[in-house]
Amino acid sequence: MSIDIFPSYRGSMEYYCLGCSARYDINELHYTCPKCGGVFLLEDLDFEALKEDDGEVWRKRFDARACSKDASLRGIFRYYEIMAPVLDPEDIVFLGEGHTPIIPASKALTEKLGVSMSYKNDGQNPSASFKDRGMACAFSYLKALVRKHGWDSVLTVCASTGDTSAAAALYAAYVGDPITSVVILPQGKVTPQQLAQPLGSGAVVLEVPGVFDDCMKVVEHLADNYRVALLNSKNAWRILGQESYAFEVAQWYNWEMADKAVFVPIGNAGNVTAIMSGFLKLHSLGVIDTLPRIFGVQSSHADPVYRYYKAPKSEDRKYEPVSVTPSVAQAAMIGNPVSFPRVKYFADRYEALGGAGSFQVIQVEEQAIIEGMLLANRHGHISCTQGGECLAGLIAAKELGLITTETAILDATAHSLKFIGFQDMYFTDSFPDAYGITPKKEFVNAPELVIEAAEKERLSEKEYTLKAAEAVVARLGLDRKG
Ligand SMILES: *Cc1c(COP(=O)(O)O)cnc(C)c1O
Ligand SMILES: [Zn+2]
Repeated sequence: MSIDIFPSYRGSMEYYCLGCSARYDINELHYTCPKCGGVFLLEDLDFEALKEDDGEVWRKRFDARACSKDASLRGIFRYYEIMAPVLDPEDIVFLGEGHTPIIPASKALTEKLGVSMSYKNDGQNPSASFKDRGMACAFSYLKALVRKHGWDSVLTVCASTGDTSAAAALYAAYVGDPITSVVILPQGKVTPQQLAQPLGSGAVVLEVPGVFDDCMKVVEHLADNYRVALLNSKNAWRILGQESYAFEVAQWYNWEMADKAVFVPIGNAGNVTAIMSGFLKLHSLGVIDTLPRIFGVQSSHADPVYRYYKAPKSEDRKYEPVSVTPSVAQAAMIGNPVSFPRVKYFADRYEALGGAGSFQVIQVEEQAIIEGMLLANRHGHISCTQGGECLAGLIAAKELGLITTETAILDATAHSLKFIGFQDMYFTDSFPDAYGITPKKEFVNAPELVIEAAEKERLSEKEYTLKAAEAVVARLGLDRKG
C-alpha cells in the first residue's frame, strides 16, 4: 500500500437514471434522463476496486492530504477518488470551498439544550453557503467538457432560492470565458444580500413573479428545449460535490461516527441526498464503521418530505407536492423537491444498513426556526435561518425522545448575514401574518440612541463628547475608577 498524495486512480463514471435505470456516458452534459425525465446519480463503475485498500489506508490518505498546499487537493477534492475521479487537476476549480469548521456549543448553550451539539459552519464557504461545494464540482466538470469538446460558449442557467445563484454566478465569474451565467429568481423571494451576490458577480439576473417552484418550471422548459447547462441540484455533479460535507464531518471526528446525529434542513433535498450518499460511500470503503443518524428538518410551511415519511410503514407512504407558505427558512421553502427520488433511494439503503430510525424527518414551526437561530447566535454561532431550523429540529427530536446521548452536528447551511432581514423583522415585530411569528421580548434586541442629533449642532465638540459619554455612563450605570 502507498499513501499517494496525488490521486492516480481514474474511475469510469456513468449517469444512472433513478426513473428507468438507463445509463449514459458522462462525456455528454445531461441534466435529466432523455428517456423518462428522471433524475440521475453519478456512479463509478470501478468503485469496488477502491476496496483493495482498506479503511485505514483511505483514512491516512485523506488525512495526509489535509495539509496539502496543492489547490486541487485543498478543497473538496481532497476526497477525489470517492467523488468525481474523472477530472484532471488542471480542470479543478478551487475558490476556497470546503473544510468549514465544526464549532461545539458553549457550556451555557449546551446546558440550556441538555444535549451535546455542534454547528458545522457552511456559511464560511466563499459565497457563504454550502452550495459552493456542489458548484465547485459542477464547474470543474464543465471546464473538463469545454476542454474536451472545444466548445466556444457555454451558457449556465439556474433557478434559485438565492444561494444557488450566488454560487453559480461566483464560479462562472471566476472561470470566465467561454462560460457565462444566467440566474432566474423568484421576484422578491430572495434576500437583498442574496440578490446582490449574482449582480456583483456580473451574472444576468432574471426575475419571475411567484415562488421557487415557478422558477423551476421555467428552467425545466429551458432544459428540455434549449442548449443550456443547468446548474440546479437536479444536476448530478452538484450532488457529488456536496457529498464532501459528509466526508468532512467524518474526518473532523477522526472517522468515528458512533453516537453522532447529523441535522440537515431539506428544501430541494439535494443536500440531504448528498450527505446520505457520502456517508454510505465511506461506510462501504470501511473508512467509517458506523453510520451517523440523519435527521432531515422541514418547516410546517414547506414539508412534503416530512409528510411522506410521517407514515411509519413504507406501503402507507405517498408523495405529494405541497403549496408552500412564507417561511423564514426561505432557502428551503420548496413544495416539490426535485431530489425526492434520490432521498427515497438513499434513505432505503441508509435504513437497511443503519437500522430503523437511522434516517428521519422532523417537522418544526416557524417560531421555533427563527428562535433557534436567535438562540444559537446569542451563544456565538453564525447560523442562518436554515441552521436555526436544524436547532429547532434538534430540540423537537429531544422532546420526542429521539435523541438522548448522541452528539448532534447541525448544518448552518449559510452565513447568518445572508438572512439577516428575518432577524430584523423579528426585532421590529414586522413579520407579515403569513409567517405566524410573534416576537418574544427575551430574544429582541435593538440599538438605543443615547443623545439627540440636535445636540451635536448645539454643543461644542468637547461638550458634545462629554455629554454623549455621560449618557453612556448613565445608561450603563458605570462606577468611577479609584
Ligand atoms: C439550498 C439551501 C438549502 C436547502 O438545501 P437543499 O439541497 O435544496 O435541500 C438550505 N439552506 C440553505 C442556506 C440553502 O442555500
Ligand atoms: Zn430514465
